[in-house]
Amino acid sequence: MCGVVGIYGHKEAANLAYLGLYALQHRGQESAGIVASDGERLRFVREMGHVGDIFTADRLAHLKGAAAIGHVRYSTAGDSSLKNAQPIAVDYSGGSVAVGHNGNLVNAIELRERLEAEGSIFQSTSDTEVIVHLIARSRETTLPERIADALRQVRGAYSLVFLSEDKLIAVRDPMGFRPMALGRIGNDAHIITSETCAFELVEATFVRNIEPGEMIVIDKDGLRSMRPFPEAPAHRCLFEWVYFARPDSQIDGRSVYRAREHMGKRLAVEHPVPADVVIAVPDSGVAAAIGYARESGIPYDQGLMRSHYVGRTFIEPSQQIRHFGVKLKLSPVHEVLRGQRVVVVDDSIVRGTTSRKIVSMIRGAGAREVHMRISSPPTVGPCRYGIDTPTKEELIASNHEVDDIRKFIEADSLGYLSLEGLYESVEGLARPALGGGPQGFCDACFSGKYPIAAEKPARSRQLRLLPA
Ligand code: SF4
Repeated sequence: MCGVVGIYGHKEAANLAYLGLYALQHRGQESAGIVASDGERLRFVREMGHVGDIFTADRLAHLKGAAAIGHVRYSTAGDSSLKNAQPIAVDYSGGSVAVGHNGNLVNAIELRERLEAEGSIFQSTSDTEVIVHLIARSRETTLPERIADALRQVRGAYSLVFLSEDKLIAVRDPMGFRPMALGRIGNDAHIITSETCAFELVEATFVRNIEPGEMIVIDKDGLRSMRPFPEAPAHRCLFEWVYFARPDSQIDGRSVYRAREHMGKRLAVEHPVPADVVIAVPDSGVAAAIGYARESGIPYDQGLMRSHYVGRTFIEPSQQIRHFGVKLKLSPVHEVLRGQRVVVVDDSIVRGTTSRKIVSMIRGAGAREVHMRISSPPTVGPCRYGIDTPTKEELIASNHEVDDIRKFIEADSLGYLSLEGLYESVEGLARPALGGGPQGFCDACFSGKYPIAAEKPARSRQLRLLPA
């Protein structure tokens, strides 16, 4: 899970990329970077940490030029260290190129082994570096052709931004796992971003979504769209609407907020329960909790407060931080919970340990009953396409029935949204698309049906995220 942004044709390109990354911070909090081009050379800043801490006024002033790309990272492949921070910038025979990647390549290990056997030397453990090596070795003559040639050899999920001295190039993989949108700033500048919520901050207007399999090239001659890959059935990540994306974003024409609200409404129909108050596990559970309250007629209130000064539980890579983080981040409002029958709405249950602590926290604040409602189906498999989920064995729903999970988290009742209900919530909002599950989505972590097989088990060759 990462976020990317690209700006072309604006004298404040690096500053706008910085603002764009601010809006995308929820997609990755380990490291961030910006590469800018002044037309002759690339300059970059990459650091571990949050966007607001990394980019000082001096550093931004160093990033000269009218084009820039930026990246916020959460590691799904490769360890958590500065050498894996993005964008990656390299020199090759045709000039310089930088790349920022949101996604995960399922054949990166095979490609890396082949490239190393042929003499390539890798600087990082990130799967994205494989793309850079393939570009450098390509026999095509132009950068867009080299990129297309490289990407025809990789398999998996990628929404990519590339920057050379004179071009901004964006590519969304043929299945469209990760979102990507195109906007305009004023009359002349373009912005490309993982999520449309970034448009608001930089006062850009939404132009359109970048389609699965599309490459956009922007340079002094304007903007060109290409389709360099064989067509494939679309498999947009369903979990973007459930959890990852910000609710004020639209993905492929579907409002994330409205989809989540509908998930909550449908959840109330599928799993009703007599109760006094509906609360959310903030922030990603809020819209679904409001939907549940509206449909059920039970009042919504804020029973849990979230500190915004620590990262989101699910995307912190260390087990120690994750456990500690629940207490750091969530705090019960006793006045809302005391003596009440509480419905608590969350977006998913991963290992079950966080949910168990939340239930215990609500009971500890005096709730009489705690009914957990989940706005997605049981997560039964890991993601192989850019989301860092635990292994199948660690996912509680992969090897436990719902009632066993309820007992483990010590809730009075537990209800998950059906897959059908999730599809209704997301696909009911826009025009039909082609391929994938109903109307072109990936649902592999809920259904176990993976659209692209990993050529080697996804986890077995990955480095540990942090030393034990
Ligand atoms: S497996 Fe789940 S999280 Fe991964 S792309 Fe598919 S729907 Fe999204």
